[in-house]
This record gives sequence, C-alpha cells and structure tokens, in this order.
Amino acid sequence: MTRRLTGFQPTGKLHLGNLIGAMRPLVQAQDRPSIAMIADLHALTVEHDPAQVRANTLQVATVLLAAGVDPDRTAIIANSQVPEHTELHYLLECVTGHGEAARMIQFKEKSAGGKNVRLSLLTYPVLMAADILVHDVEQVPVGDDQSQHLELARTVATRFNSRYGETFTVPEGVRPESAARIMDLADPARKMSKSSPSAAGRIGLLDPPDVIRRTIARAVTDTVGVVREDPIGQPGVTNLLAILRACSDREPGELTSYGQLKREVTDAVDAVLAPIRARYAELSEDPGHVRKILAEGRAWVRPRAAETVRRTRAAIGLLD
Ligand code: AMP
Repeated sequence: MTRRLTGFQPTGKLHLGNLIGAMRPLVQAQDRPSIAMIADLHALTVEHDPAQVRANTLQVATVLLAAGVDPDRTAIIANSQVPEHTELHYLLECVTGHGEAARMIQFKEKSAGGKNVRLSLLTYPVLMAADILVHDVEQVPVGDDQSQHLELARTVATRFNSRYGETFTVPEGVRPESAARIMDLADPARKMSKSSPSAAGRIGLLDPPDVIRRTIARAVTDTVGVVREDPIGQPGVTNLLAILRACSDREPGELTSYGQLKREVTDAVDAVLAPIRARYAELSEDPGHVRKILAEGRAWVRPRAAETVRRTRAAIGLLD
C-alpha cells in the first residue's frame, strides 16, 4: 500500500492551519502506512534556544497524539532520533549542485541582503530530501510552500538512480484529500503561519477559549456586509467560511451578518479544539509516555531506513 510521510517543524506554536491542512488528513488516512515526522533538525538551521527546541519537539508529538494520530498505525518520529536521516543527507549532498540548493526560495528569502546565515540553512532542502527518501515513501502531502523542496527530492532521487543504479523510490507530492488552506485572520492575503509577525491572525491549537473567541471576533472582514464566498473581493469572509466548513463538516446554513458568522465559527472551532486541549492536558502529565512513543516510532522505522542507507552506500561506492 502507498506509504506517506508528513513533516512538522517544531518551531513556534501549532495552529488551526496545521490541524486542518496536515494533521486531520493524516488522521483520516491512517489506514495506509504513514510516518509523522517532527523535523527537529530543521529547527537548528536558524538562531535557536536549545531548551525551546526540545520542548517544542515534545509539544508537537503530544499535539499529534491529542489530535488523534494513532501511534499503533502511524509512526511518530523526530528526524534527529533516526541517524539514517543525517547519514543519507551527506550522501545526497554528493549528488546535489550548490546552485540547486542556493536557488531555493526559502534560502533566498532568509539569506537576502547578505545576511549571515548558517550553512545548514543552505543544505536543509537536501536534508529534507533525505527525510523523505530514507523511508522509501511513495507520497508526500505538500502545500504550495513546500513543492519546490519536494521537487528537489525528486530530482536528486532520479539523478542518483540514473547515475548509480535504481536505489530510491521517487516520491510524488499529493494534495491531502480533505485539506483546506487556512489564511491569516488579520491578513487574509497570507496563509496562517507560525512565522507570521502577529499572533492576531493565528488560532493556536492550545489557545484557551476566550483567546479564540477574541481572535475570531477581531478577524478582518470587509464592508460588503454579505456573507458569501468571494476569495478576491471578500477574502476574510471566505476564509471564515472555509474554517466553518472544515470544523463543522457540513455546509454553513443561511448567515445574515458577520457577527453571526463569527459566532458560528467560534463555536465550531471550539468544538474541534476543546477535546484536543483536554487530551493534550492529560498527555502532558506524563512526558515519559510521549518520549516512549517517539522511541517506538524510531524502532519501527529504522530497519527500513537502515536498508535504504545500505543500498545507497553500496551504489555510490562505499565499503559495507
Ligand atoms: P509547518 O507549519 O511548516 O510545520 O507545516 C506543517 C504542515 O501544516 C504542512 O503540511 C503544511 O502544509 C500545513 N500547513 C501549514 N500552514 C497551513 C495553513 N495555513 N493552511 C493549511 N495547511 C497548513
């Protein structure tokens, strides 16, 4: 059956976009073999606080469990805990051009103006290729922002296979069946993101109900005054409708005012997030349990990852 890998960066707070765009599709597709990978190594490519990265990694794992990812069906791993990721990273660097890495939009953005960036920021897309290829996955659910990185993984895999013999499964990008792209509530022209400058546009998955209510109440709308879908003319209202639809799993009924729309959105979001918050609180009482799940995930994926690295080493000319 098709194998999938979904990645999460342990930077900043997880938000409603992550839940709707990535976690729920993962939960809904658990009949297929899947890996949920927390990219803690990627968190080191920029200035970071060590204790914070560790805490965030455990937090993301805990949220995944709270959101319904079943560790008996989906392997939950941190990429730093599976050393085959970094071993394959180096081997793949040997088939990637410097120019290919330097062309990546995220690198160009973060290094613009001659900023002093870490070398790992440049090589990060190659690590990402290793994250995917090491597990022999066939499908990677990706949003638009990650499609360039997936393309690099495909290019590198194809190049390696043609130069050194069939070694890697070339993964394809898929749009998660049920995912919607959730936009920033304060600036509906950009997507809801951990890195957006203001928290006013973001609904954190662990935000208390009164914060959620305030954030939605302040969401940017428009002066049209009609509740309808119009991504160009009414992006804020369209986004609220998308959230309502995603959180209530039904078509919104007749809504006559923005106030009513916002109340419905608040109720629907709260109905989705309240059980996740409660389960998160329970799980947080036993961090040892979450660490054990990560250790089990690692043990589960390692034999296959080790076999991929073995094949790669043999193909590229290393001793066994
Ligand atoms: P990241 O926040 O970059 O760690 O993304 C983790 C996952 O959540 C990826 O699969 C993203 O495509 C997805 N994601 C992030 N932001 C949004 C959003 N605003 N709407 C839908 N999906 C999102």
